[in-house]
Amino acid sequence: MGSPKGWTLATKKLSAWYPDTLHGRYAAVALSLALLTMLAAAVANWYVERSHERNLQNVELRRALTETTRRLRNAIWDTEYSLRAYLLSPTNEHKDAIHDGFNQALALLAKLSPPDNQLVGLRVAGEDLKRRLLRLRIEVNRLIVIRTDPAQLFPSMPVLRDVLSPSNREFYTAATLAMEEMAENDEKQTPAYELFQEVRHLWTRMIGVFRLYLVNHTGLFGDPDEGIRVQDRNLDILHSEIQNLLGQIQVLNNDGQLGLQSADSLAHMREIAATWYKAYRDVREQHSGDRWRADIPLLKTTIEPGFRSVWEGLETIERHIQASADRDAEALGWLASGAANALWGLAALLVLFTGAGYFYIKRIILQPIATVTQALRAEARATDGLGEAPELPRLPADQPRETRELTQAFFSMREQIRQRQAALHFQATHDNLTGLPNRVYITERIRHMVVSPERDGSGFALLLLDLDRFKEINDTLGHQFGDQILEQVSARLTFELRDEDIVARWGGDEFLLLLPDASLHYAEQAAEAVLKALQKGFLIQDMKLHVGGSIGIAVYPDHGLDAATLIRHADVAMYEAKRNGGGHTCYDPELDPNSVRRLALVANLRDAVERGELDIHYQAQRHLKDGSISGVEALVRWQHPERGPISPMELIPLAEQNGLIRKLTLFMLEGALQQWRTWRNQGLKLELAVNLSAWNLQDANLDRQLAALLEHFKVDVSQLTLEITESAMMSNPEQAITVMSRLAGMGVKLAIDDYGTGFSSLSYISRLPVKALKIDKSFVTDMCRNDHDAIIVRSTIDLAHNLGLSVTAEGVEDRDTLNLLEILRCDTVQGYYIARPLDGKTLADWLSRKEDGTILPMRSPSSR
Ligand code: C2E
Ligand code: CA
Ligand code: CA
Repeated sequence: MGSPKGWTLATKKLSAWYPDTLHGRYAAVALSLALLTMLAAAVANWYVERSHERNLQNVELRRALTETTRRLRNAIWDTEYSLRAYLLSPTNEHKDAIHDGFNQALALLAKLSPPDNQLVGLRVAGEDLKRRLLRLRIEVNRLIVIRTDPAQLFPSMPVLRDVLSPSNREFYTAATLAMEEMAENDEKQTPAYELFQEVRHLWTRMIGVFRLYLVNHTGLFGDPDEGIRVQDRNLDILHSEIQNLLGQIQVLNNDGQLGLQSADSLAHMREIAATWYKAYRDVREQHSGDRWRADIPLLKTTIEPGFRSVWEGLETIERHIQASADRDAEALGWLASGAANALWGLAALLVLFTGAGYFYIKRIILQPIATVTQALRAEARATDGLGEAPELPRLPADQPRETRELTQAFFSMREQIRQRQAALHFQATHDNLTGLPNRVYITERIRHMVVSPERDGSGFALLLLDLDRFKEINDTLGHQFGDQILEQVSARLTFELRDEDIVARWGGDEFLLLLPDASLHYAEQAAEAVLKALQKGFLIQDMKLHVGGSIGIAVYPDHGLDAATLIRHADVAMYEAKRNGGGHTCYDPELDPNSVRRLALVANLRDAVERGELDIHYQAQRHLKDGSISGVEALVRWQHPERGPISPMELIPLAEQNGLIRKLTLFMLEGALQQWRTWRNQGLKLELAVNLSAWNLQDANLDRQLAALLEHFKVDVSQLTLEITESAMMSNPEQAITVMSRLAGMGVKLAIDDYGTGFSSLSYISRLPVKALKIDKSFVTDMCRNDHDAIIVRSTIDLAHNLGLSVTAEGVEDRDTLNLLEILRCDTVQGYYIARPLDGKTLADWLSRKEDGTILPMRSPSSR
């Protein structure tokens, strides 16, 4: 392990074992945790079980031991008691009890020895107690022997028996013999006789006192000590008196006053008296202290200490038993604290695991997800999703397969979406046949050039080219020829013009050329060059074909300030060129039949509202899900007193350019909301859509005015949709978004109108506060016949749904289109096939005639 080589080898081994998937890692961690917990539980269980069992055994054992010691104590106590009883009265019964006591105690001691070696101390104490008991028994036996043998019991007994008792009688006999001799000799009146008589009397008294003394020593009468002291003194007095008398008799004898027998008796009596006194002194000596009885010293010096030592031995045993109980209690305490510690340890381990798990999950799952989320946000922020792909997010190296796959899936999905978006965008903005930018694209470019703030003021030119005789070629030679001509024309146009110039297919055989930074002079030169290039003719399938062209020129800013005007003026000029038989013509207001008419119209439009010439028609919208008529779109109608109906396509730009659009929008909102209220009162429930112009989005008062109208007509705000064209956002997007947000904040639903003709991507739209999308009718009307349109409609529906927008298709003119839209899961449809725009009353009649039951009349007209 010390060397780096060993280390890398070890990590390699480890990583081979380390599961690659999150699933596997989770399983590994869960398994090891489970194993660890189970192991801990098993060990703890085993340990607790064992401790419990041992404790139970110990308790059982202790109970037995305690019982045995109790009985042992009783046996010893019985023995001691019996011994005391025996000492008082040495019967055989007591003696047997003593022996039984010892035997029982020894038998119990044998039982006390514990089975295993955990109570070694107890066994040693037991053996010690046994030794003490055996020793005690020997001593007690000795005591019993002494107690039964009086000679042994009383050490003074031999002196009494062998010396004192015979002396008594001999002294008395000797005195009597002397007195008898004197009586025979009739010497009863002699002093000698009296002296003998006296001495014999004193002797008898002395022996009597001695007997009393002995009795007192057995402790039978009164206070023995007091008696013994008095008797000692009396005996001494009596003895010295006797000695005295015997001395007097000796004096008489020395005078020869005594007979033979008397002299002999005297000598004998003096001898006896001396011997007796000596023996008495010995007895007295023995009787002082405890030595007068042999059992008492034995009792005091040996037996009592013996019993004490036995009791001590027993106490030692009891202490051992108690100590064992203490040890068990302590062990239980350890067990409890061990369990608590283990629990704490487990809890700490769990906390540690949870914390580590959190950080691991954060690193392995949450961080990658956050990174992907961030990348997704960045993706959404990218203006149109066509920019450079953001950097690959950095992720931890050891991420599991799941997160790796997630990020990979995200990146491949993003790539697909980008490609699809790019393809869609290209398809939507380019012509299929020639690959040139299409009408949508070029219009948007022109709008951009008109409004783009970084323009340096230099103008640009528009050239609208219409091929002559193209229709004839198409009709006579077939579409393939026509298509090839268009392809070759587009190649030549591109070749003739500068790189920065844009050639677009306007439609059919029309091409629109956008020349940035171009003066009128340059535009005329370019037109010249283009026409010259066309005059060379085209070689198609070995056939030389000639197609001429007519070009109309319009220059910004001289011929118009907005895209629509410029294009229309180029068109006017082109017709003029055509009228002149080809070549190129520059726009001249004098030539524009419309402009005169328009000036007049503007004048009329100002009064049209007051004069009641403006009217509102409503076009029904159908829900594809259930076929119900869900709502209507309000469309302006102008019935000009002289010119008849004027198309909104003409009217709206006019109103916008002359500052009348605000008034017109308010007229529409007021009229439509009033109509809504009327319908509602009739029991009709319809959502209402009203169109807004780009100019309305620059109007900061719009939301306030709308709120007042909603309030006035008591219209539920959720029933109102405002339709806004994509291009409406372009001139001042920030202000537009502010107004839109305020409207959305009120609860008004916003929809993007004419989707597909503008320039913005869905990802841009998805960030606006809009809820719905209306696909422009130019894609819808022909979608059953034109695959390209069908693809665009289908992708738009899919992408819009992914972004949470609902989709309306307008311009539905036949059953097939309706069916196809149903298949493509479009939400709502609008078009002549469902209904033409109708005035309010006619629409209500039409709805009531519809018998499909999808419109439910309100129960009560006043209910909301
Ligand atoms: P838009 O908002 O796209 O309205 C739908 C137009 O398509 C209406 O033309 C309607 O008559 C027409 N249409 C409906 N169904 C079909 C169909 O099946 N096929 C075909 N080919 N056309 C169908 P309209 O009424 O001429 O309006 C033209 C445009 O004028 C509207 O287009 C809208 O942009 C504008 N407009 C109309 N009324 C107002 C208004 O009150 N305010 C504003 N700002 N613009 C309005
Ligand atoms: Ca509309
Ligand atoms: Ca529309």
